[in-house]
Amino acid sequence: MENAQVKLIPIGGTTNVNKNMYVYETENEILIVDCGIGFPDADMYGVDIVIPDFSYVIERSEKVIGILLTHGHEDHIGAVPYLLAHINVPVYGTKLVLGFLREKFKEHNIDKSVLKIIDPDIPNFKIGSFNITPFRVNHSVPDSLAYGIKINNNLIIHVSDFKFDWSPVMDKPFEVGKLAKLADENPTLLLSDSLGSSTSGYTRSERVLGETFQMAMEKNEGKQIIVTTVSSNISRIQQVIDSAIKHRRKVVIIGRSIKTNVEVARTLGYLNSPVSVFVDEKEISKYKDENLVYIMTGAYGQSESALGRIASATHKNIKIQDDSIVIFSADPIPGSFNQIDAMIDKLTLLGAEVWYKDVQENLHVSGHGASGDITMLAAIAKPKYFMPIGGTIKSMRAYTNLVSKLGHNKENFFELSEGQSLLIENGNVRLGEVYKIGSVFIDGNRQKSLDPIVIKDRQQLADDGIVAIAIPFNSKTQKVSGKIEINSRGFVYMKESKGLIHNATQKVEKVILLNKDKLSDWNFIKQEVDKELGKFFYKETGRNPVILPIIVEV
Ligand SMILES: [Zn+2]
Repeated sequence: MENAQVKLIPIGGTTNVNKNMYVYETENEILIVDCGIGFPDADMYGVDIVIPDFSYVIERSEKVIGILLTHGHEDHIGAVPYLLAHINVPVYGTKLVLGFLREKFKEHNIDKSVLKIIDPDIPNFKIGSFNITPFRVNHSVPDSLAYGIKINNNLIIHVSDFKFDWSPVMDKPFEVGKLAKLADENPTLLLSDSLGSSTSGYTRSERVLGETFQMAMEKNEGKQIIVTTVSSNISRIQQVIDSAIKHRRKVVIIGRSIKTNVEVARTLGYLNSPVSVFVDEKEISKYKDENLVYIMTGAYGQSESALGRIASATHKNIKIQDDSIVIFSADPIPGSFNQIDAMIDKLTLLGAEVWYKDVQENLHVSGHGASGDITMLAAIAKPKYFMPIGGTIKSMRAYTNLVSKLGHNKENFFELSEGQSLLIENGNVRLGEVYKIGSVFIDGNRQKSLDPIVIKDRQQLADDGIVAIAIPFNSKTQKVSGKIEINSRGFVYMKESKGLIHNATQKVEKVILLNKDKLSDWNFIKQEVDKELGKFFYKETGRNPVILPIIVEV
């Protein structure tokens, strides 16, 4: 008999919010759910994005039957082009999600024929032996789905980022009926978004923001108004546009990602606005600022974004006026707080009145459900086991504490680290093997992955600097002849460290003397110099500079 076990491995997305990727594996098939990017930490120098470690699926590539996407956020779809560079499989998602992805495919030269649009209204469809039941959920990007995944007599309900919104701006409300129907089939496991588990109550409807934008334009007639938000938040962009139309302003969309997304959403019929409301950035000199609203990138404080350039007064077309209003309408992502603060400071110094969530209510509502939404989902789905996802270790624990109050044993909750597998069989779930999973760092300029050693070197260079040692060597006599020179950058101030450098030079001379029989083996000598000087500098200065011995032929 065929092995009926299903293995589930979070490759990313359980402990650090982003880089979402889940592997469902049976004896003969692998289905991947989501494949997103992560964002680098401040000390990952030169890293533009982080992608999941694909090695587990690449090693089993012949088993992979498809990639199923939940919604159009970068941390759920952004790494698809990188995975398709290794394996060629169909990619399933709703129209808008695949619309965003198609634009990425153009940049990566990937054939769009792998894209398979899911109609959310069909009852179910098959990917290999997996029977998929899609249902609509609400989130900060339209066209978001969750899935019932039936495989080997187990039903798993996979709900990525979600909230319940009973009056969404452009979506339909969460399809509770379909979820309740799945619940009747005794689901084994529910995976669901845990990010908002320590926020009390229910997340409000996106619609409440419409009034804020209305008020902003009503109160500030005659002034320059700039709104920055996340580029995929199409419904929020729609609300800014609607307010603009009411106040006889035209809309200028600025920034590459937001322009692309607005264009995709318009073409596919998600954004519902007359073409005449948009003004191209090149044409803005023909209008007064009071007749325009700018919607642009920069909500995370990125210095290279449109708003970043305006804040540093280097944008060629737009300048902050004395009475400009700049509205931040987005949740900061972890790690972006300092950058956002710096940007708000710059804009304030240029004369702008900046609205952000500490000074103005109703500027942003989360796309993630709060504790009320999370409990309601669990109560409707009624699974035997739970797996909190899409958050942090803290939010997974808060989820377990919250949902277990519905009367579930805490042992039925699986707070997984990345690479920790679950084994699902005959309606039961238990922990499986732990697979070693890392991250892959991408340099955006070259679209190439960076070796972790390079990142480590950069961190070491940034923290402790570099010391270069030039060793003159005569290959005829096989002897060091001449003076050993030591130079440093970012380590110590050379002029004030003559004693230290003198002693270091003597250390190098000693290494050479001790190993005079092995001078032809330069790799060995380099390693010895590195080892001895490393110890010496650490003892003397408490620092670990990069040590670079160079052999100079004389
Ligand atoms: Zn999301």
